[in-house]
Amino acid sequence: MDDLIRHGLEARADWASYYSVVEGPDARYHNRPDCVEGAKIEAKDIRQGTAYRQLCDLCRSSQKPK
Ligand SMILES: [Zn+2]
Repeated sequence: MDDLIRHGLEARADWASYYSVVEGPDARYHNRPDCVEGAKIEAKDIRQGTAYRQLCDLCRSSQKPK
């Protein structure tokens, strides 16, 4: 597994921003480990960061628990 993918997986597990390199017409980034959309991203496609995208609606509608 290369470093970019590993960091993407770590980002998803650690409330950091992550996104899929597979571009869609409605591409978003995520910041919740439990986002159902984010969970669909395959390991080989996940990267850390926002890619200058909008935050996904599911992630935005939920607050990080204390
Ligand atoms: Zn999301």
